[in-house]
Parts: sequence; structure tokens; C-alpha cells
Amino acid sequence: MKNIYAIGVGLIGGSLCIDIKKNNPEVVIHGISRKETTLNTALELGLIDKKATLDDLANADLVIISIPVDATVKLLPTVLDKISDTGLVVDAGSTKVDICKAVENHPKRRNFLAMHPIAGTEHSGPTAAIEGLFAAKTNIVCEVEKTTFKLQEKALKLFTDIGMRIRYMNPEAHDKHIAYMSHLSHISSFMLGKTVIEKEKNERDIFDMAGSGFASTVRLAKSSPEMWTPIFEQNKTNVIETLEEYIENLTQFKELMQANDFDAINTEMKNTNHIKDILKGISQE
Ligand code: NAP
Repeated sequence: MKNIYAIGVGLIGGSLCIDIKKNNPEVVIHGISRKETTLNTALELGLIDKKATLDDLANADLVIISIPVDATVKLLPTVLDKISDTGLVVDAGSTKVDICKAVENHPKRRNFLAMHPIAGTEHSGPTAAIEGLFAAKTNIVCEVEKTTFKLQEKALKLFTDIGMRIRYMNPEAHDKHIAYMSHLSHISSFMLGKTVIEKEKNERDIFDMAGSGFASTVRLAKSSPEMWTPIFEQNKTNVIETLEEYIENLTQFKELMQANDFDAINTEMKNTNHIKDILKGISQE
């Protein structure tokens, strides 16, 4: 693998560039982005070696697409049109059904591997890229059987070399499970932030009273709306299902309080403490 093209050099694309370059110093990493300023920052930070455009993709051994999922759906067929017969294209999108559908009948479908690296922070853009983001994290690969075996092997080696565990799932199962594990957490954090901001208009009070519990619970509300809106749009049905269950639990909690049933409240919390065992072994970002 000699020439890698990163389309999107933000948190995920930029961090992948850092780790891949560290393990493979001989590769040349070419960056592609909408904004020239973003590419210049990526170059200054050393995330990429060179700036490039979509017209250069015939030269790519590997293309990594790390842009919002609506943009990925639109761009992926064009990228496959442009690469050589031996080029590999991977995407890092947080949804998988629409992305896989977008190329299901593409003549170069076998050159594409759909994946979702489960790693991240609430920050975005090239300045958010960090070394080691993917160490000991899971990379979910979808429809692996649709990718040429040789290209599968290349991709899996690259990602296991940067410390990732590979898990296989179909796109429907991925989108359903990720709605619970990630999308709902972001909505609950955004709406917790909204509730507090609306009530506590005096920012000074928030600073004085907010403990680390508030800060850690509301952390995800700093995430990029440009990245999250298309995720919620693409995974609308699953996300609404998780929201209905969550709202039901919140309502039940409120009703127990209204009924002064604090024994039941205590039991609810005790039962949920089991989350400690579930989270054991998951490294915190
Ligand atoms: P990011 O830091 O905001 O970077 C995304 C880059 O995409 C931006 O630098 C931007 O470059 C470009 N971009 C934005 N809108 C675009 C559009 N409409 N068309 C083309 N390019 C566009 O985002 P990220 O966190 O790296 O996320 C990238 C992908 O990884 C997304 O698909 C996301 O779902 C997925 N993902 C994210 C996380 C996470 O925790 N953040 C985790 C796993 C996977 P310009 O400045 O040039 O516009």
C-alpha cells in the first residue's frame, strides 16, 4: 500500500491518518476536503503529506471516507467510479444501511468495505485529530462477504495494526444496536444541556454549581450538529424507537416520584447499577 487518500481529515479521518502513517511511514497520505482551509490545517498539523482532489483517485491504493453520512451516501458511488480495479475504499460513517444501499449495485462494489470505528470524542475538525484514538477499540465491519477477499485482508491488517478489534455485523443490526449504544446517548446529552441552559439563564450559576457529574453527562452535547443531524435522519426509525422507550422510563420515574414511591425509585436505581458490570473493560474516552 503506497498511496492513501483521506476524504475528510477531521477527528476520525485525521486520527486514522496519524496512526496509519505511524505504522506505515513509507505511505504517502493525500488529503481531500471541501474547504481549502481545512486541508491547509491538516497539512500544517502533519496529518497529511499532500493535498489532492477527487480527480487524483485513480492513483489510490486506499481511499478512506470520513465525512458526514449524508455526504458519504452522495459521494461514495463517484469515488468507486474513479478508483482503479485494485483500489480499496472504506468509509467510517456512523450509520451503515443507507451507505451500503447506495452502492449495492455498483460495478465496483467488491472494492468497498463498509465499517464503523467505534471511537471518538466530542470534538471535530482536523485540530481534534489525536494519536492512538483507535487503540483497543472496536471496528464494526458490515457485509464483509461483498468485498474482494484480498482487499478485505489488506483492510483488516491495516486496522488491526492500529490496535482495533474487528467485529462483523449486517448493516440493519448495526444501525439498530448503535441507536441504543450511541445515538440515544447523544440525544439525551443534547436535551439535558438544553434543559439546564433554558432554566439557568445565568451562566455564572451554572459554572459555580456544575459538578463533574453534570460535565461528564453533558459532554456529548458539544458534538457537531453537522455530523449528527444526518445520522439521526438516516437512522430515524431506530432512533425514534429508542426515544419512545427512554421517554417511557423517564415518565415512569416521574410518576413514581409523584406517588412518593421512593422504595420503587431505589429499586430502579439498584437494578440499573448493573451497568457497572456491563461497562467493566470498556475504556472510557
Ligand atoms: P469532523 O471532525 O466534523 O470531520 C468531518 C470533515 O468532513 C470536516 O472536516 C469537513 O471538511 C468534511 N465535511 C463536512 N460536511 C461535509 C459535506 N457535506 N460534504 C463533504 N465534506 C464535508 O467529523 P468526524 O467526527 O471526523 O466524522 C466523520 C465521519 O466519521 C462521519 O461519518 C461520522 O458519522 C463518523 N464517525 C464519527 C465518530 C465521532 O465520534 N465523531 C465516531 C465514529 C465514526 P471541510 O471543513 O473541508 O468541510
